[in-house]
Amino acid sequence: MEKEYLKLFGIKNIKVNLNSIGCPKCRGEYQKVLKEFIGKNLENYCDDCKNRFEKNPMRILDCKQEKCKKYNAGAPMMIDFLCDECKTHFENVKTALKAQNVNFEIDSGIVRGLDYYTKTVFEFIDEKSGLTVLGGGRYDGLVEELGGAHTPAVGFASGVERLMEMVNEAIGDEIKERKPDLYLLSTGIKENVKALELAESLRDNGFFVERDLMERSFKAQMKFADKIEARNLIVIGENELENGIVKIKNMATGEEQEVKLDVNEIISKLK
Ligand SMILES: [Zn+2]
Ligand SMILES: [Zn+2]
Repeated sequence: MEKEYLKLFGIKNIKVNLNSIGCPKCRGEYQKVLKEFIGKNLENYCDDCKNRFEKNPMRILDCKQEKCKKYNAGAPMMIDFLCDECKTHFENVKTALKAQNVNFEIDSGIVRGLDYYTKTVFEFIDEKSGLTVLGGGRYDGLVEELGGAHTPAVGFASGVERLMEMVNEAIGDEIKERKPDLYLLSTGIKENVKALELAESLRDNGFFVERDLMERSFKAQMKFADKIEARNLIVIGENELENGIVKIKNMATGEEQEVKLDVNEIISKLK
């Protein structure tokens, strides 16, 4: 699902980092062991970590402070404390990912900040930059905790800015290089409606069509069509609407062709 989400934006080369943080049962056991380990050096940890110690000691493993990282080295890992049910579940997740050819790695450092996660947690990493694109996990108990029926669920979050940067990188150049196939020039209300309708139909057929969205004058639109290097231009004016005939102007050669004001006719000329 998350993979599909990224595919939507044209983002490729994603690696999945995976971990299991167990269920409340095995996590309780693990937290005891973890607290024993951290407790030995607790006075050396940062204030945030000291606060996390009672409430959510696993988050200490997530601390980015150098001194905390140092003391975290060699800490017991959740993955070694999974109960039978969680262990089997984790194995099944890995098997399913392999079957789908998903490139993944176990990262026992992923704990995610939120208490309600159960079992699988994951982060998607951009292989090029090494940055996390999205993170999430299962929360089998959350719906129940909020008063609903027992409903296992999976969720994730991604930073919009990071995602936008990556989308720009992935498809930005393609967009920048592509020139509009057609600019539809119109000024009046009826003409604009027709232009909008036509633009939609042409886009549905894969054409890159631009039209005015800023109520520019005829002259200003001509200039704009030139500036964006539209390959063709069609003017939809009063006469064109009345006669049902438009001219397709090839912007490079200046050559004009008359054609019926009809999507299919126009498509055949644009091709
Ligand atoms: Zn468990
Ligand atoms: Zn810390």
